[in-house]
Amino acid sequence: MAEFEDFISEIRNANPLENFIGTYVSLKKSSRNYVGNCPFHSERTPSFTVFTDTQSFYCFGCHAGGDVITFTMKMENLEFIEALKFLAEKSNIPFPEKNTEKTKNKTRIYEMNRLSANFFYNNLLSLKL
Ligand SMILES: [Zn+2]
Repeated sequence: MAEFEDFISEIRNANPLENFIGTYVSLKKSSRNYVGNCPFHSERTPSFTVFTDTQSFYCFGCHAGGDVITFTMKMENLEFIEALKFLAEKSNIPFPEKNTEKTKNKTRIYEMNRLSANFFYNNLLSLKL
């Protein structure tokens, strides 16, 4: 697991979310976070927020949320693994090609974890709102 997890964190570290999203959306600094017009729905008042502490984004308008990988998936219309490849290429990080079958399984497990984490995260957010 370690190798794949390392790869994921390398991808994350190489692409600080505010910089990465900044290439798609014009962001304004708002205390420790950044806000901008959501790229996933049309709006005039920015409700799209990038949280620098957690390296995650959330739109209070359409409830899109996630991290740099989720953002890439949505923005570039890619599958999880394709989004990883896209980001790896951008940041010159070699994609771990060996043990492809193993990697695929790990990816699946990892994605399931991410999805359920997002689900609980969104539930928590909606409780607060
Ligand atoms: Zn939105």
